[in-house]
Amino acid sequence: MYSNLTPCQFVAYGFVIQYKEYYLENRDVILERGKKYHIENQDKINAYTKEWRRNNPQRVKELARSSAERNKHKLKGYLKSFFSRHPNKAIEYYRNRRARKLKSGGKIALDEWTSLCDSYGNRCLCCGRTDVKLTLDHVIPLKLGGIHSIENAQPLCQSCNSKKHVQTTDYRI
Ligand SMILES: [Zn+2]
Repeated sequence: MYSNLTPCQFVAYGFVIQYKEYYLENRDVILERGKKYHIENQDKINAYTKEWRRNNPQRVKELARSSAERNKHKLKGYLKSFFSRHPNKAIEYYRNRRARKLKSGGKIALDEWTSLCDSYGNRCLCCGRTDVKLTLDHVIPLKLGGIHSIENAQPLCQSCNSKKHVQTTDYRI
């Protein structure tokens, strides 16, 4: 396999092999040295990293994207287990994510939504039922350019919400 190498490459390759052997034999010492260097030069390294990130915004974006891609399954698993323990947080997360995807702007925190429902006596503003699960309806639907904010939200039951569809009926008044 070495026959295709130029003399220069051959020498370089030799160094790599030599280093690899050296590394395998002295792995612990090398790792320990690296760790010590990191601890002693923490500030210098942080400053350098910061500077590098400022000068390479495109590369930073690429790295973030590829790391997100690599950790996709891990993140999915983490979210799944977190949301199974906190179902209301899941609703909040997916509502905000949908708004983000539609580029509607705005965000609604779970407690904002809970207190809005409380202020209306936890009833559907359309049919007035209190024995049903309330869903968040956007008075001006996101698809029509409405904002995902508490000012544009009203509690409706699933059935009334589906019937309303993409109309802009405001039941709050
Ligand atoms: Zn209803």
